[in-house]
Amino acid sequence: MEQTKCEKCGSSNIGQGTLDGYAAMQSKNTLLGSGIIADICTDCGEILSMRVKEPKKFKNKK
Ligand SMILES: [Zn+2]
Repeated sequence: MEQTKCEKCGSSNIGQGTLDGYAAMQSKNTLLGSGIIADICTDCGEILSMRVKEPKKFKNKK
C-alpha cells in the first residue's frame, strides 16, 4: 500500500471508514447501491478520498 499523507496537515495517520446502508451511493441507472470506502486523516478529519466498493454497478447502460 502506498504511503498516503494528508494534504491539509501533513499527517500520515490515515484511517479507513465506510459509508453503508442509508448512506451508500446509489446508481441513477440501475438503482443498485454500493457502499463507500473513505480514507480519513485521523488527526484533522480531512477526507482524502472516497470510492465505491463496487464501481461496476455505476456503468451506464446503453
Ligand atoms: Zn490531516
